[in-house]
Amino acid sequence: MSSAIVTRFAPSPTGLLHLGHAYSALFAFEAARKSGGSFLLRIEDIDFTRCRREFEVAILEDLAWLGIEWETPVRRQLDHLHEYVAVAEQLRVRGLLYPCFCTRKDIQREIELAAAAPHAQEGPVYPGMCRSLSEDERQSRIVSGESFAMRLDLNRAIAEVGSDLEWIDLERGLQKAQPEVLGDVVLVRKDIGCSYHLAVVMDDALQGVTRITRGQDLFQATHVQRLLKALLNLPTPEYHHHPLICDTEGKRLAKRHEAEPLRSLKSRGVSAHDVWERLGFGQ
Ligand code: GLU
Repeated sequence: MSSAIVTRFAPSPTGLLHLGHAYSALFAFEAARKSGGSFLLRIEDIDFTRCRREFEVAILEDLAWLGIEWETPVRRQLDHLHEYVAVAEQLRVRGLLYPCFCTRKDIQREIELAAAAPHAQEGPVYPGMCRSLSEDERQSRIVSGESFAMRLDLNRAIAEVGSDLEWIDLERGLQKAQPEVLGDVVLVRKDIGCSYHLAVVMDDALQGVTRITRGQDLFQATHVQRLLKALLNLPTPEYHHHPLICDTEGKRLAKRHEAEPLRSLKSRGVSAHDVWERLGFGQ
């Protein structure tokens, strides 16, 4: 038997869980259970502009209905916002972040001007307009009250920790970290004061997660998260990016495409056992 692992399911309470989430949750839960390890649940609610308390309550209910059991207390990221903000500030002091005043429109315009702008799975890679602003210009724009995010200066980060970082994906094997696939990501959002990448990297380490299981849509994110782990001197877990569950037309299930919520399946008489079977976790 393999040694006991710690896994987690980390939903954002921005909607109701559907079969895609159920797959992710069961994948992590079963991996932990089979190894005799533990399964954690983390509520990723730092994006308070989109997260809602009632979705968090529904998530807990739906997971319990599925028969999933998690360790308590559940970590809620919003309770720890100040910790992420403090670590972002340390990175800034180390010269690894720079203020970015660009709006989405500015970025879009710049990308349209560039002949071959790199594009990541989840959107365009930042073309770097604010990376080389002078310190004077930065200060005067900040003082004048212009709003700004803080981005990771990838070149400086790589100069600090080197470009030969690796990580293991259980599906695809040893990976060389390629943080440039996402470019200078935002680590401090204008509105919430930190970002998903920073919070997730800190929490996985703090909670002692040894195997991060999540969908393949986050494969590219792992490259930059590996780099952040190195910058923050945090241990690197192993990763297992699983396939995404698709609908009958082969489209990925997503809240924005109105995938049927688990609770609606339940009210139509589908049992938790049926969901396990349908997702391939039946005995
Ligand atoms: N909170 C993220 C989501 O709901 C998942 C983060 C992760 O698994 O690293 O997509």
